[in-house]
Amino acid sequence: MTRPGGRWQNWGRTEQVRPRRVERPPSVDAVRRAVDAAARRGLHVKAVGAGHSFSAIALAPDILLDLDDLSGLVDVDRGRGLATFAAGTRLHRIPALLAPYGLAMENLGDIDRQSLAGAISTGTHGTGIRFGGLGSQVAGMTLVTADGERVTITEEDGELLDAVAVSLGALGVIVEVTLRCVPAFVLAAQERPEPLLEVCDDLAGRSERDDHFEFYWFPGTDLALTKSQQRHPGGTPTRPLSAGARFLEDVVVGGVLHRVACATGALLPASVPALNRVSTRVWGGRDFSDASAAVFATRRSVRFAEMEYAVPIERLVPAFEAVRELIRRRGWRISFPIEVRTAAADAAWMSTSHGRETGYIAVHRYWREDPGAYFDAVEEILLAEGGRPHWGKMHAQDAAVLASRYPRFADFVAVRDRWDPHRVFANPYIERVLGG
Ligand SMILES: Cc1cc2nc3c(=O)[nH]c(=O)nc-3n(C[C@H](O)[C@H](O)[C@H](O)COP(=O)(O)OP(=O)(O)OC[C@H]3O[C@@H](n4cnc5c(N)ncnc54)[C@H](O)[C@@H]3O)c2cc1C
Repeated sequence: MTRPGGRWQNWGRTEQVRPRRVERPPSVDAVRRAVDAAARRGLHVKAVGAGHSFSAIALAPDILLDLDDLSGLVDVDRGRGLATFAAGTRLHRIPALLAPYGLAMENLGDIDRQSLAGAISTGTHGTGIRFGGLGSQVAGMTLVTADGERVTITEEDGELLDAVAVSLGALGVIVEVTLRCVPAFVLAAQERPEPLLEVCDDLAGRSERDDHFEFYWFPGTDLALTKSQQRHPGGTPTRPLSAGARFLEDVVVGGVLHRVACATGALLPASVPALNRVSTRVWGGRDFSDASAAVFATRRSVRFAEMEYAVPIERLVPAFEAVRELIRRRGWRISFPIEVRTAAADAAWMSTSHGRETGYIAVHRYWREDPGAYFDAVEEILLAEGGRPHWGKMHAQDAAVLASRYPRFADFVAVRDRWDPHRVFANPYIERVLGG
């Protein structure tokens, strides 16, 4: 978000920059002119979405392109389940745009505030061992490349679609995205506090039995807050959460009370284990069913910093246990839960779940606390487990490490070399993770 005085900062307040210039192109032609003008002046261009990345991936020291005016539904092929959106469309607008066609996005992450292009560019994902991240829903894409040309990639372009599906913003400015959608469906959700060790013992089984399964663990407690969701295509919601219940859970419990708990924990770390035990009790236990997007997406009103790693699915429980043991050994008082999710293998070259079934471990820290020592130590564990860092979340890795984690890394860099030889779309983060 751009603040008065021209300073831009991300949602997590982990990054900020004062761009040389902010442009809000109203059309694809205006994007082409902006890219062309910047390239001729030797400046860098960054398209920015909702600023919801915690890493410095979206920092635009030169030209910040705000694509909020490139928003909305462009075209629908109902028979093939294909829907094309302007790239700046926010995810939360998509359900209403698809509803008249009886379609929905196949899977979503925890929140829906991101822009479509921003979310897919960093490999945003939800949970479910039979479902890929948002990049796996991409059936086509139109980008403005560094020479100002408009390039459309579809499934007929074969592997090139796998290159652009998760592209870190490094290949060009995405102006349209075609998603492979599914018939609209209802999700029946069960949320429960359960014994942590039992959940870990049966994690593989739960992930197979439930369409979408994840859990949160508050350090210092022995309970997991589990979320199980089953898909019902064409179903009607039988128990939607009332507006009052949503307000109570998301705003009062998840927002106000959690913020008070985090602020108290930051001042009095010794109180964190007791606060976490209370949080686990207050949060757990509800059954409801609703249209898929209303169940997938929740509100996050307490600000935090986050790091997330993708590990091979068979290393998920050992990696989680190692992180748990680390927190116990160091005696850290962490007021934010750890989140554990899964995803299917997918084909996008730079997807964190490329080529392997994946388990995700995400660690969070209240935004007023320094995440440094905690994230560094967890990162060391998850790297040793074969982990790949989420592109949009905090991490300390560079191209030398990342090249060995992605079988198609060199191919992606080769496409970048071809499409952006003068690095118009680079920023310091992109240079660090892909090389200069
Ligand atoms: C509260 C919260 C919850 C989150 N939950 C999840 C979750 O459940 N799962 C998950 O995987 N992630 C999650 N994230 C991370 C988030 O989904 C990603 O960081 C995502 O990239 C943010 O989208 P954005 O629109 O804000 O993109 P930005 O952060 O603005 O940009 C991200 C990248 O996309 C590029 N980009 C944006 N628009 C374009 C374009 N038009 N063309 C080319 N490049 C473009 C930018 O240049 C940058 O490289 C969460 C983040 C927050 C703050």
